Amino acid sequence: MATNERVQCLIIGSGPAGYTAAIYASRANLKPVLYQGIQPGGQLTITTEVENYPGYPDGIQGPDMMINFEKQAARMGADIRFGLATKADFSTQPYKVQIDEENWIEADSVIISTGASAKWLGIESEQRLNGYGVSACAVCDGFFFKGKEVAIVGAGDTAAEEALYLSKLCTTVHMFIRRDAMRASKVMQERVLKTSNIKVYWNTDTDEILGDKKVSGVRFKNNKTGEKKEIAISGFFVAIGHRPNSEIFKGWLDMDEAGYIKTIPGTSKTNLEGIFASGDVQDKVYRQAITAAGTGCMAALDAERYLSAKGLH
Ligand SMILES: Cc1cc2nc3c(=O)[nH]c(=O)nc-3n(C[C@H](O)[C@H](O)[C@H](O)COP(=O)(O)OP(=O)(O)OC[C@H]3O[C@@H](n4cnc5c(N)ncnc54)[C@H](O)[C@@H]3O)c2cc1C
Repeated sequence: MATNERVQCLIIGSGPAGYTAAIYASRANLKPVLYQGIQPGGQLTITTEVENYPGYPDGIQGPDMMINFEKQAARMGADIRFGLATKADFSTQPYKVQIDEENWIEADSVIISTGASAKWLGIESEQRLNGYGVSACAVCDGFFFKGKEVAIVGAGDTAAEEALYLSKLCTTVHMFIRRDAMRASKVMQERVLKTSNIKVYWNTDTDEILGDKKVSGVRFKNNKTGEKKEIAISGFFVAIGHRPNSEIFKGWLDMDEAGYIKTIPGTSKTNLEGIFASGDVQDKVYRQAITAAGTGCMAALDAERYLSAKGLH
């Protein structure tokens, strides 16, 4: 295996977690090298207004915010590169990570901030209206639909939680469930079914999200009878799960059944010393930019302490 570079701190991913880790690692003089992956800036580059990130009293467009993150990391001295981590070999130290299926980089510490991707239904209107009434995050975007009618699709615990969250803001939440039962835990199901402004539709598929420039309604279909109906809504939430981008680390790092990297509670440490995880790739609960940034900071501080203790920095 030909390696052509050795770094103290390798950061994989360029969302809020990766860039925050890069800011802290640069300021600690770890000379971090960060690979951006195929989505420089991460998930926030596919959204419009971000109103809940502290420090922006008037809100900010997601892509603009991520340009600010990148600029700040670059100003601190982070070496930011376009490239994808394609393979990992964590069998011996220094750890090895392959970039773009060619070069291998050796790293004394690795910070994994590869995020997670929301699962989508895969219909054309969902893509076209994404950020214009279609969202995969009720906590992020529910506020924009205060006092309005929305629909949500999903049947697990997250969908139930998001429907309940929306029910406190919106007049009616139409909840589409594919089968005649929910997957959510009993207690969550009961809470949903007891909430007067959540209307559950069983055996229901989304046919089309309606609207030209923004969501104005939805057409749905009873998958038993084939009957189609339309209702007027302002927001459409997809809550059918997330996929953590952790594939290449399988076999090396401890993960839960969905592929989220396990960290030691209260730290960013994984089961391998010198390898840290931050942001959505290790967080299936909060999944916010601020929590991702917070854990990115933790990962850089943990890496700095690890390298110092090992005499590698
Ligand atoms: C539509 C939408 C709207 C949202 N709105 C808000 C909001 O208003 N407020 C809020 O707080 N949160 C919001 N969120 C959630 C927020 O975007 C995420 O919690 C946050 O971006 C997670 O940050 P992260 O750094 O963990 O990862 P991500 O932002 O997911 O970034 C992951 C990064 O890793 C890179 N990567 C992945 N695999 C590899 C690889 N193999 N090699 C190299 N790089 C790799 C990607 O290119 C990307 O740069 C929203 C999410 C979505 C989808």
